[in-house]
Amino acid sequence: MNKPKIVILGAGYGGIMTAVRLQKQMGGNEAEVILVNKHNYHYQTTWLHEPAAGTLHHDRTRILIKDVINENKITFVQDTVVEIKHEEQKVILENGELAYDYLVVALGFEPETFGIEGLRENAFSIRSVDSVRKIREHIEYEFASYNNDVEKKPERLTIIVGGAGFTGIEFVGELADRVPELCKEFDIDPKEVRVINVEAAPTVLPGFDPELVEYAQNLLERKGIEFKIGTMIKKCTEEGVILSKDDVEEEIKSNTVVWTGGVRGNSIVENSGFETMRGRIKVEKDLRAPGFENVFVVGDCALLINEENDRPYPPTAQIAIQQAYTCTNNLLKLVRGNEELETFKPEIKGTVASLGEGEAIGTVGTKKLYGSTASMMKKLIDNRYLFLLGGPRLVLKKGKLKLF
Ligand SMILES: Cc1cc2nc3c(=O)[nH]c(=O)nc-3n(C[C@H](O)[C@H](O)[C@H](O)COP(=O)(O)OP(=O)(O)OC[C@H]3O[C@@H](n4cnc5c(N)ncnc54)[C@H](O)[C@@H]3O)c2cc1C
Repeated sequence: MNKPKIVILGAGYGGIMTAVRLQKQMGGNEAEVILVNKHNYHYQTTWLHEPAAGTLHHDRTRILIKDVINENKITFVQDTVVEIKHEEQKVILENGELAYDYLVVALGFEPETFGIEGLRENAFSIRSVDSVRKIREHIEYEFASYNNDVEKKPERLTIIVGGAGFTGIEFVGELADRVPELCKEFDIDPKEVRVINVEAAPTVLPGFDPELVEYAQNLLERKGIEFKIGTMIKKCTEEGVILSKDDVEEEIKSNTVVWTGGVRGNSIVENSGFETMRGRIKVEKDLRAPGFENVFVVGDCALLINEENDRPYPPTAQIAIQQAYTCTNNLLKLVRGNEELETFKPEIKGTVASLGEGEAIGTVGTKKLYGSTASMMKKLIDNRYLFLLGGPRLVLKKGKLKLF
């Protein structure tokens, strides 16, 4: 009898963890599992603000897929997904196609620009190893060029970060550490550099505990970050941004605009005819796409409603990883002929945002954490993930808390 074929699209948190769990829980002959990913590596998206600023080498954030996947149990296909043809139960790749019996969609996120003019064309975004390598190189180039210009161009040393949510704040925290190093390297007076974080909401880190928000903002301001709160980016051009606050416009010239103000699900999902909201499929309790018996969606492509407040959970790695566990259990149930599927219930353990080296804020359970304690907690969370993915060997190889 032919084994059922499970195809997993994307090797981010949701996809790779589903593959690793299947590898651990599945018997040899139960199913054929194929993992498809654009690159031959998995990267830790939650670390990308660091290589973007240049405070961590991008190689530290990536893990070769062959180092965590047992190729006797899982087939890895390095290719780019172009379309899901769900009526035909197949996936179109750039270099071929794959038929499936069960599909796991784990293709992650894309920046959401909310229709802001020029943002897509002129701003950078923190979304992959490729994108953050470009940001780091670009910032270094601008600093290196500054003293070579006959007429000094302040826009080379002005960095605009759009959005003061989680990603924006973590990124400016890294920039606050990186700018003094760049100034030293390229003989630039730090007073000439501006890092401006623009946020449309009335506060940074909207939704976070106000005391923690105050701590974060004060710390980052002391490190030289400027905040423009309650301010919208109206337009992004090749020369910089046009901001708007209380109907008053301001133009800031900048050669480096980085947009972190929102994410949506991968556009492949909506372009493949699934019903979506901001590119995300509102999944059933068992993580299947509505109307599809054999299509699961995990991570940032899945929209999950919090029944306590009837609002969507923010897309996080924490939820993507937990969904991978439920998705694996449900796939195995279906393969074994059990129709009673598990309900996914996220267990939010806490949230920690880093603010540069040795500094962070966060909540764990009902406890608020600040400074070095929060920073240590962040590193423990990162190491725990590496442990779940590849055991102690991976923690020693890629982890952040050095034991020796
Ligand atoms: C800077 C930053 C910091 C963050 N910090 C935190 C945090 O502290 N805690 C937290 O819980 N969350 C955090 N998040 C959010 C978290 O990273 C995402 O929610 C998480 O990455 C979603 O996981 P995923 O598996 O859905 O997708 P991803 O991790 O984005 O992975 C998607 C995968 O699909 C692949 N892929 C995409 N398109 C294709 C294609 N067409 N063909 C083949 N492969 C493709 C990609 O290469 C990638 O490997 C942060 C995000 C950012 C950007």
